[in-house]
Amino acid sequence: MSFLVLKKLTKVYGSRPAVDAIDLSIEKGSLVCLLGPSGCGKTTTLRLVAGFIDPDGGEISVGGKRIAAKGASLPPERRNMAMIFQSYALWPHMTVGQNVAYGLEIRKVAKADLKKRVDAVLALTKLSTFIDRYPGELSGGQQQRVSLARALVVEPEILLLDEPLSNLDANLREEMRFEIRRLHDEHRRTTVYVTHDQSEAMTTADLIVVMNQGLIEQAGSPEDIYSRPVSEFVARFIGGTNILKGARTGDRAVDVGGGLVLHCGNGDLAPQGATAVSIRQHDIRLAPDKPTDGLNWAPGRVARQTYLGANRDYLVTLASGETVRTVTTPEIAIAQGSEVWLHFPPERCRALAR
Ligand code: ADP
Ligand code: MG
Repeated sequence: MSFLVLKKLTKVYGSRPAVDAIDLSIEKGSLVCLLGPSGCGKTTTLRLVAGFIDPDGGEISVGGKRIAAKGASLPPERRNMAMIFQSYALWPHMTVGQNVAYGLEIRKVAKADLKKRVDAVLALTKLSTFIDRYPGELSGGQQQRVSLARALVVEPEILLLDEPLSNLDANLREEMRFEIRRLHDEHRRTTVYVTHDQSEAMTTADLIVVMNQGLIEQAGSPEDIYSRPVSEFVARFIGGTNILKGARTGDRAVDVGGGLVLHCGNGDLAPQGATAVSIRQHDIRLAPDKPTDGLNWAPGRVARQTYLGANRDYLVTLASGETVRTVTTPEIAIAQGSEVWLHFPPERCRALAR
């Protein structure tokens, strides 16, 4: 059931909408990632949900009740939400225990209950042994866990996280992704998680919402977004892909130039005229010899070949002058300048109407 619903939600700064009439329905208990490049409107969306800013148009509702519309928004403290920022924003002069207890104290939670809840959330976030330390005595990852604990302890109906891992180093970031997913699985709190990192979104999210210039390009499961991107923007943003632009020639065929017509096994073709085909790097097959059968083969020349241990990375120039990128197993070693044949399996060629 839809729980957090954004309807035509809009926020304009100057003359440009930072969030442009977006519609989004979020199920209760799910973890949704807003994913997109810097400046696409992720933080603005989150701040609208939290109530730090007022929409210029549209509305937000939670559980069927409207909480925000232009000039008629509930203040943040009357929304049962907690937001975690990129900077952990811990109180430096308070211990871990005091930082976590703070939100309960201002809500006037009784002492005995307070202690029980703080202990429980510290156990959950694996911080029990750090209860008397100050933030300055903790690593970045531990501080980030304290900020999570502090948000979780107030038992918000909705948890909002804005690039919570971007201040951590790469190893820790990877570990914390799983940690966030584990914490989510324990409590199933409705969560909106903002990131510009696609693997972070793939690891944590039930639903990924790809944003671009204040608009939602696509919303779907990680698998949907990766395997069935609807636009060139999404295909490029999520994982390595080749985009070959061309024109529709037949039922499911696109002429991409240089004598190559690609038959597309999936996706949506533009009704007529210009269209594009997306194919992932690891889906293109590379062969040294001319094949004897099949559709979607094209000759090319190796422009560059790089050995990467687990695989090889090839750049191959096609007759049209376009260069495509493909990865092979490491045993396939073909020198730069050699002629090769590429196979674009039709079922892996995805036509992009947009
Ligand atoms: P993201 O979080 O995806 O990087 P933001 O939501 O922060 O993007 O910003 C979206 C757009 O709105 C950007 O172009 C940004 O410059 C603009 N913007 C955000 N906040 C403000 C503000 N307070 N005043 C003016 N412009 C803003
Ligand atoms: Mg941001």
